[in-house]
Amino acid sequence: MQRSILILGGTAEARALAGKLAGDPRFAVELSLAGRTRAPAGQPVPVRVGGFGGAEGLAAYLRQKGISILIDATHPYAAQISRNAAKAAEISGVPLVALRRSAWVRQPGDRWIDVDGVADAVNALGDVPRKAFLTLGRQELLPFEAAPQHHYLVRSVDPVEPPLSVPNAVYLTARGPFGQADEARLLQDHGIEVIVAKNSGGPASYGKIAAARELGIDVVLIRRPDLPDVPSVETVEEMLAWLDHAPVPLK
Ligand code: NAP
Repeated sequence: MQRSILILGGTAEARALAGKLAGDPRFAVELSLAGRTRAPAGQPVPVRVGGFGGAEGLAAYLRQKGISILIDATHPYAAQISRNAAKAAEISGVPLVALRRSAWVRQPGDRWIDVDGVADAVNALGDVPRKAFLTLGRQELLPFEAAPQHHYLVRSVDPVEPPLSVPNAVYLTARGPFGQADEARLLQDHGIEVIVAKNSGGPASYGKIAAARELGIDVVLIRRPDLPDVPSVETVEEMLAWLDHAPVPLK
């Protein structure tokens, strides 16, 4: 009997997993996106877009669609949807497995300053004007208006509109993956002294971290939010094995 899977996505892993499951006659797969980016990358399975209306809304959706497995493959900083998924699984009785990529680990030579959130990241830049590279979501940039003394290089998937109310900001729109050599060139071309980033994990956005190490540049790294304690795997391969009923150690 075919089983219906709902993947909560928005990550490269969610897309890769959907790609592996597309065409597998054992499963009917739907991918759910928050709708944060204007022109999301093409997806290999049917997609629905937008919020469910909290945990209850998601639970109702799972029941209505007859979903038999819920996979939370959202971004490690998208904590609300992960909490909603855990609660919805509890309400509906639908089994939930999370696909959570592990965080980057500090290497010798890394000049990381760990902070708890965006406001702390702004403070960590200090009073003296610096050239800062911001690689955060569009929605997280507003607090930097409180520190207009810095020069900002801002990279986002969609344009930052309206732009920040600061006198010195340059905007780039780009979608990863970003390699180390290109990132090093970008940092040097713009004379960057500090990067502000999330500890996203995975290879696609690690280039800037490796380039910062190579060039001796500070990285203000926003700590990961706490996520609900649910069965989880770290890679697409582990998730596929779990779906095959292979003995995968769940965390
Ligand atoms: P969030 O704070 O966890 O979610 C907020 C609400 O958005 C959820 O309660 C849910 O609305 C809806 N939502 C989130 N993901 C969804 C999905 N896959 N399908 C359907 N609805 C979804 O997440 P966020 O506001 O998107 O982002 C928080 C942080 O994650 C930011 O730092 C952002 O840069 C980062 N991030 C997010 C994504 C992404 O695709 N969401 C990708 C990369 C980075 P309802 O309660 O109405 O269901």
